[in-house]
Amino acid sequence: MSSAPSVTSGRARTAVVVGAGIGGLCAAVALARAGIEPLVFERSRDLAPLGAGLTLWPNALHALRRIEAGAELETQSAALGAGGIRTSRGKTLVSTADLELERRFGAPAIVLHRSELQRALLDALAPFRPTLGASLDRFEQDETGVTARFDDGREVRGDVLVGADGVDSTVRRLLLADGGPRYAGYIAWRAVTRFDAGRVIAAESWGPGSVFGLLPLSDGRLYWFGTCPARSGERDEGPEQRRQEVLERFAAWHEPISEVVESTAAADVLRHDVVDRPPRRGWSQGRATLLGDAAHPMTPHLGQGACQAIEDAVVLARCLGAAEDVAQALRAYESRRFERTARIVERSRRIGRLAQWRSPLAIRARDALVERLPARVQLDQLAEVVGFRA
Ligand SMILES: Cc1cc2nc3c(=O)[nH]c(=O)nc-3n(C[C@H](O)[C@H](O)[C@H](O)COP(=O)(O)OP(=O)(O)OC[C@H]3O[C@@H](n4cnc5c(N)ncnc54)[C@H](O)[C@@H]3O)c2cc1C
Repeated sequence: MSSAPSVTSGRARTAVVVGAGIGGLCAAVALARAGIEPLVFERSRDLAPLGAGLTLWPNALHALRRIEAGAELETQSAALGAGGIRTSRGKTLVSTADLELERRFGAPAIVLHRSELQRALLDALAPFRPTLGASLDRFEQDETGVTARFDDGREVRGDVLVGADGVDSTVRRLLLADGGPRYAGYIAWRAVTRFDAGRVIAAESWGPGSVFGLLPLSDGRLYWFGTCPARSGERDEGPEQRRQEVLERFAAWHEPISEVVESTAAADVLRHDVVDRPPRRGWSQGRATLLGDAAHPMTPHLGQGACQAIEDAVVLARCLGAAEDVAQALRAYESRRFERTARIVERSRRIGRLAQWRSPLAIRARDALVERLPARVQLDQLAEVVGFRA
């Protein structure tokens, strides 16, 4: 456990960033732009292209513009375009054809592979580079700085420590000791495959207990995801069985879901437990703070986990950039981010619960409600999340 010092005056010149996921890389870029040298440490031995697709909404693209990162993504990635919510039989409940995100919010929504975002952030970070194969074990802080200690015996001193180390964050454990994340009761399968996107309506389909999403990427690729209720700790026996489970789960759903899953290499199908955490304050203590999934993991139903990490990075750098007192700046960062991220965590969880309903009667009532939701209400709800500028 690290106790926070009572005096922390003096500008931050160096920041130890733990984790080189989307949150850690964005924080590093934003801090570098604010004149603070980022020292980034990543547990993995390489930054192999992990993950699957991601949607970046206008709020994330505005934040990336602010730190001058990833401009090429806006032109090279697929726009979210028309989409909506459908039933498992393919009936459209809500169409987002007329959302006009760019006109309303000043930026589009794009769909891309996580590795493309990672590459753009690494380019923006140059000449700084993450140190790989370094896993943070613990840290101590005092009036003049933070000492981070890694599993290879390395010790690094900085003015600030940013825990961007994901849902199972070590930094969070050291700061808050509040246990592991909360399992939401279902898993998500995700993959990217080659598929003729012209034959696909970008949409999320909601059926008994599950959701299936289809999102075209650029260059003839398609990102898909599916959710399925599962007991905590259940595992599958490997890629072949995993793909087979997806096929069985969605066999009775509308076309071309089965064809899309069949076109996917079994080894490319990822499986995640869906988790979040009840929002809790206290992520900034003295010279240490949290960012992204380490601070506020959320279920994926609003497609905002990475977007919120990107917003965090911009606000963190803004708070630290000109501050004369590091602890005060980190408290200001947390207080500017807490309520927004807490609302999104809760909303994602509520949508997740709705999406897991299995009773045919309840599903019919849900579908009727979704179908009748006035466009203005849908837009207001969307605007609160994606129309925000960090
Ligand atoms: C099914 C699904 C769909 C999603 N869809 C979307 C979407 O459409 N849009 C969106 O915005 N978000 C989406 N998300 C959420 C998004 O993927 C995450 O919120 C985001 O990637 C979190 O980034 P992060 O940097 O905080 O954490 P991570 O990406 O988990 O990165 C943490 C990094 O820290 C490293 N690390 C861990 N411990 C240590 C340690 N002790 N020392 C050093 N390094 C360490 C890890 O190796 C990792 O590289 C989705 C998530 C899921 C599960």
